[in-house]
Amino acid sequence: MSDKFDVIVIGAGPAGYVAAIRAAQLGLKTACVDAFAGKDGKQALGGTCLNVGCIPSKALLDSSRQFHNLTHNFAVHGISADNPRIDVATFVGRKDKIVKQFTGGVSQLFKANKITPFFGTGKLLKGNSVEVTAPDGGKQTISATNVILASGSVPIELPFAKFDGKNIVDNAGALDLTEVPKRLGVIGAGVIGLELGSVWKRLGADVTILEALPDFLSVADADVAKIAAREFAKQGLTIKLGAKLTKADVKKNEVELTYEDKDGAHQLTVDKLLVAVGRRAYTTGLLADDTGVKLDERGRIVVDEHNHTGVDGVWAIGDAVRGPMLAHKGSEEGVAVAEWIAGKAGHINYDTIPWVIYTEPEIAWAGKTEKELKDAGIPYKVGTFPFAAIGRAVAMNEAVGQVKMLAHAETDRLLGVHMVGPGVSELIAEAVVTMEFKGSAEDLARIVHAHPTLSEAVHEAALSVDKRAIHKGN
Ligand code: FAD
Ligand code: AMP
Repeated sequence: MSDKFDVIVIGAGPAGYVAAIRAAQLGLKTACVDAFAGKDGKQALGGTCLNVGCIPSKALLDSSRQFHNLTHNFAVHGISADNPRIDVATFVGRKDKIVKQFTGGVSQLFKANKITPFFGTGKLLKGNSVEVTAPDGGKQTISATNVILASGSVPIELPFAKFDGKNIVDNAGALDLTEVPKRLGVIGAGVIGLELGSVWKRLGADVTILEALPDFLSVADADVAKIAAREFAKQGLTIKLGAKLTKADVKKNEVELTYEDKDGAHQLTVDKLLVAVGRRAYTTGLLADDTGVKLDERGRIVVDEHNHTGVDGVWAIGDAVRGPMLAHKGSEEGVAVAEWIAGKAGHINYDTIPWVIYTEPEIAWAGKTEKELKDAGIPYKVGTFPFAAIGRAVAMNEAVGQVKMLAHAETDRLLGVHMVGPGVSELIAEAVVTMEFKGSAEDLARIVHAHPTLSEAVHEAALSVDKRAIHKGN
């Protein structure tokens, strides 16, 4: 078959499928090629995010949170239940249903937008054709004026702790355990390690996280990281910093770990090991040798500020290119590229991309950290407000953490907002909107916030920038 499209997208993760939908909305004849197969072997659109990332992890985080509340937090409300148990098959099965609902939803959206899906591996050929190899090995070539590469990322494998899908697992494996491991080892205290470690800890696993770096959560603001570390320790999550895994031997259904820290080598035996040491851009088989598309030293597709590869009509977005590996970052690049292709003014502001970690308490931030401002020599003012003084948080029995706001010392422009506490995954949006509109701390301070809500912590932190918070000493 030979078919000519305006746009072919390779990869149907949150970057690729969103790019395809936006391109179709703009009247472009669009195809999307994706190789991901679901548990039933059929095409499952949505990439890492919908199949083995954002959505299934949040499903398990929510279920495990309910269980943890039942076993640990309900008593204070006067609620008790005898002998609470977790049925892991139902727990994982519910997650699978949600995944299916959403991957099926992307198929429906493709139909509604008249996007042609191709199931198979796409390889970019010179001249903007794409060779599609179906799961049965059948090949066909399609071509387009524009090709958007959105091939995403895959977990990094440690050579001495290779994934076996049984004892040593990646994120996909950790979302599909069939029973609660007695002892779970997690390598890497990044977003994925913390979230999935929390899931199994809440269900009763003894979880030890080994992190090679000496500082906890060094991507976040230091105050937020400190509060989070304290709360995780209270929950019984063991996090060993400056601890580098050097060996992992599977023996009789156990994994014997060797890690090194400042005191030398140590051993630790676990039943399951989750290796979550980061992800790398995935481009295996994506590019014919003569396309002219370049990869950088980390294997990412090289693009300019408009996500263009430098090869006529070839663009790249999402985890496969520079920038944070976040679903919404990829989606916004997808929208922008579709708009640029259609001759419109696409836009993406990398300075206001929010980060969220869905642990308990949640962690969220946008903009610069205090350290980044210091290093850049930018003068700033700080405002903070604790959830302990927020009526709604206390009523919820979740009065942990704070909102911290950083504003320019002279102009008051909001430069960074860092939150740890209840519901901050939602609260961060207000900070993003303010920063996107180049607003000031005073703008936020003058906005009416409903009482009693968690959002009052944002309001009070903004007031605190100017030393006039009402419900705390300044
Ligand atoms: P992907 O989602 O990786 O999709 C790429 C798709 O392209 C895949 O379907 C792949 O099979 C396909 N593909 C690759 N090469 C080819 C080819 N040659 N031909 C055909 N198809 C191909 N981000 C957040 O923002 N919030 C979260 O809460 C969050 N939680 C996460 C939790 C976990 C456990 C993990 C692993 C990740 C999480 N992420 C989260 C990160 C998020 O999943 C990624 O940033 C996002 O999926 C990247 O989107 P993408 O479209 O670039 O790539
Ligand atoms: P992220 O990139 O946010 O997913 O985090 C991955 C984390 O894994 C980083 O903080 C790394 O420092 C950590 N890491 C990488 N290799 C090792 C290792 N061998 N032992 C322990 N931690 C590691």
